[in-house]
Amino acid sequence: MDFINKTVLVTGGTRGIGRAIAFAFAKKGARVAVLFRSDQGSADKTLAALEGNDHLAIKADVADPDQVEKAVFDVVRHFGRLDIVVNNAGIGVYHPLPMTNYEDWQQAWRQTIETNLIGPANICFCAAKHMIDQGGGRIVNITSRGAFRGEPTKAAYGASKAGLNSLSQSLAVALAEYKIFVGAVAPGFVNTELTADRLNGPEGAQIKAQSPFNRVAEPEEVAHAVLFLASEGAEFSTGTIIDVNGASHLRS
Ligand code: NDP
Repeated sequence: MDFINKTVLVTGGTRGIGRAIAFAFAKKGARVAVLFRSDQGSADKTLAALEGNDHLAIKADVADPDQVEKAVFDVVRHFGRLDIVVNNAGIGVYHPLPMTNYEDWQQAWRQTIETNLIGPANICFCAAKHMIDQGGGRIVNITSRGAFRGEPTKAAYGASKAGLNSLSQSLAVALAEYKIFVGAVAPGFVNTELTADRLNGPEGAQIKAQSPFNRVAEPEEVAHAVLFLASEGAEFSTGTIIDVNGASHLRS
């Protein structure tokens, strides 16, 4: 798991799981571009804390196809090449059907699919075109346990992540001949700043008890699976979806 001289783009790399992924790659010698939507403060802090030099923070909305195209172009121009892309940025909007009106339902679906599925698809497109020209690359998409287990209060989220799993597998087949390897990592509940309130609140005990370890994942455990899929030697694991859910949801 050595990433010296490798260049990596991590979307949503300034907070939570994405930041842990960016840190892990930088620690192994990679040059990292962290893409964020709006929180410049977190981007500045992340950039300053990354090990090594020549990292980059890029502001772009993954739901905007033009901004995606420009962001990938800027990363390639800055680093000279793009070896690894991690589609990590994602949103989860609550829209429980019984309590949601039709307009809000449609808005939640549109926003979620545009950010969690069409955005990564466009990043894959722009990055893969470049990777084909440079002779190969790796793409890892962050999906979710919810793709398999269902998301009763965030149906669009579960569907977007199931779609992202399917996209990963389709591209693994389509891009193999270009030496582009594509995988997915599907975390269960992860301990981030955003989930801290829920974990420390009344439902925290029930969430932790979903796993026989009686805890949720740490962001670094998700990063470990991402680095494996992006590493030399993992080529034949292309098309794989790695669960990082502490045996809270098993599938075969
Ligand atoms: P956070 O909400 O903590 O961080 C989200 C990151 O994505 C931020 O850097 C944010 O930028 C960026 N982002 C969000 N929307 C956009 C957008 N439209 N364009 C560009 N960047 C955007 O997320 P988590 O760390 O919790 O989750 C990361 C991924 O892991 C997501 O895909 C999520 O679905 C998945 N996941 C998370 C789980 C969890 O328990 N946390 C469980 C399973 C899967 P900014 O700060 O500027 O808004």
